[in-house]
Amino acid sequence: MHEQSTSHPRTGGCHCGRVRFSTTGAAFQESNCHCSICRRTTGAPFVAWFSVRRSEFRFTLGQPRSYASSAQAKRSFCDACGTQLTFEHAGFPEEIGVTTCSLDDPAALSPKDHIWVGSRLPWIRLCDGLPEFTQEREDAAPG
Ligand SMILES: [Zn+2]
Ligand SMILES: [Zn+2]
Repeated sequence: MHEQSTSHPRTGGCHCGRVRFSTTGAAFQESNCHCSICRRTTGAPFVAWFSVRRSEFRFTLGQPRSYASSAQAKRSFCDACGTQLTFEHAGFPEEIGVTTCSLDDPAALSPKDHIWVGSRLPWIRLCDGLPEFTQEREDAAPG
């Protein structure tokens, strides 16, 4: 599983700076998500995410608002500037997804695959050679 670790400190926050967060654990599930919910809730054609253990994530300044984007999932965002920050799924209470591009250094954490490519927009052409999964990766439960 994913070991607790303090060797991977990362910081990030929203565009306006009212909400800041930090993570300490090793990132996993670094994925570009092409699902329609990520798309609509961000206004972007796809969204890069990574996950950390829930215990290894904390907000260090301000508090975001949350939105139930499905029966099982909620997403948080800054209510001043709208930056989407996190994703939590009731089926995975030990994990939290974080938008890679809300990190201060998103270049340092590159996605390892594309998920939900069954929903990919036809004008997005993937040529980075990363694995593509129609839904989620095999090691992620459905939903
Ligand atoms: Zn903000
Ligand atoms: Zn998605």
